[in-house]
Amino acid sequence: MNQQYELVVGLEVHVELNAKSKMFCRCSTDYFGQAPNTHTCPVCLGLPGAVPFANEEALKSCIKIGLALNCQVAELSRFERKNYFYPDLPKGYQISQYRWPLCVDGWLDVEGSEGMRRIRINRVHQEEDTGKLTHLKGSTAIDFNRSGVPLVEIVTEPDFHDVEAVVEYAKKLQQIFRYLGVSNADMEQGDMRLEANVSIRPASQTKLPNYRVELKNINSFRFMKAAIQYEIDRQIKALEAGEKLSQETRGWNEDKKMTYLQRSKEEARDYRYFPDPDLPELRMKSEELIIKNKIPEMPWVKEKRFAGYGLSGELSRVLSEDREYSEHFEKTLQIAFQKNISASVVARKYTGIRRRDLDKYEPEKLVAEIKEEQAGRIEDEEQIRQWAEEVITENQKSTEDYKNGKEAAIQALIGGVMRRSGGKANAGLALKVLKKLLSK
Ligand code: ADP
Ligand code: MG
Ligand code: ZN
Repeated sequence: MNQQYELVVGLEVHVELNAKSKMFCRCSTDYFGQAPNTHTCPVCLGLPGAVPFANEEALKSCIKIGLALNCQVAELSRFERKNYFYPDLPKGYQISQYRWPLCVDGWLDVEGSEGMRRIRINRVHQEEDTGKLTHLKGSTAIDFNRSGVPLVEIVTEPDFHDVEAVVEYAKKLQQIFRYLGVSNADMEQGDMRLEANVSIRPASQTKLPNYRVELKNINSFRFMKAAIQYEIDRQIKALEAGEKLSQETRGWNEDKKMTYLQRSKEEARDYRYFPDPDLPELRMKSEELIIKNKIPEMPWVKEKRFAGYGLSGELSRVLSEDREYSEHFEKTLQIAFQKNISASVVARKYTGIRRRDLDKYEPEKLVAEIKEEQAGRIEDEEQIRQWAEEVITENQKSTEDYKNGKEAAIQALIGGVMRRSGGKANAGLALKVLKKLLSK
């Protein structure tokens, strides 16, 4: 990017929850591939007199996402009507949250081209999806099966200044949704939708540009990157030509590899937000919610824990990427530890196991296999002692930790011995030798 300018991006991500029923009625959300308008009722068709009630399962998922993103759960939260006219919206408004979102003030650390950066999360709020329009020759067909499906929106502050960090953040969100089990977060199916707000300022300027271009309907990480890159060039050119950039919404044309104007952007006041009188306000005691919705260990925490077993950074990342995979690995690990097999030996075994084949492997059998493979292993105690001594001098931190009572730290040292032996050392023997050396 041109050194004289700085990119400013804020991201809005919508994720369709995999709750069983819709946000404000009992209709099933399992509409994929079903005949149009078969999953509807007076509430999600917006018929007069129909009264919505909020889906607790969806609210819990929304709170889980908020907690995973280090947000505060609001003590008071409210639904509001976002009014606008479009045929995919049967009520003439969308039920959303504006002034009282469920979760606020979070953050997520992401890696960009300028190193690790903390991205502030402005809000995580609950809303509902719209119907689906299909434009036919001379007319438009509407399918309301998707109308009212629970949707969560996650909005960042304009904290991104490089494209890599934007992509990294979006990928990390997708991973979080899957870890939490709240959505499949499949981009192609529209479970997860990205909107990037892009502006450019002179590198010396610290205040926000007074315009932003909202890039909509981007359904892949690759397109998002390309669209932002295109906007950087387009906006810099305009600035250099002395043109005034305006608030607008643009789409991405993948064939032409360029963004195009969709409409000039509306302001919040155009939506005439007001509290929905049909829905009660939500009052939470945040401690209660945090305990009720205990979220699983997040992948980046797990990754660090795996590294603590002496696995390389790369292996730790790969093994913790997917929740089910990582849990399978850990089950095997627990059994392996009882048989004095080191974490690195187990990890190496997993490099040959694909995610989709996971069901074919049982932890007990895997450990038995490893045992058998180790039949050809190195039993030479003198050789192992020599490796162990080298590993101890090279790993002061793990040695200290172990001596200070952190038993698991010895796994890192065993890993070191195993690496030196090309995986062939008897790990049980290595453990014995290490313990003896460390007790001196
Ligand atoms: P709206 O609700 O109309 O979409 P918001 O004020 O909530 O508007 O902002 C939407 C997104 O735009 C947020 O992610 C925010 O960080 C981002 N944003 C605001 N100003 C700028 C700017 N000048 N450049 C880039 N992104 C911006
Ligand atoms: Mg927006
Ligand atoms: Zn319904």
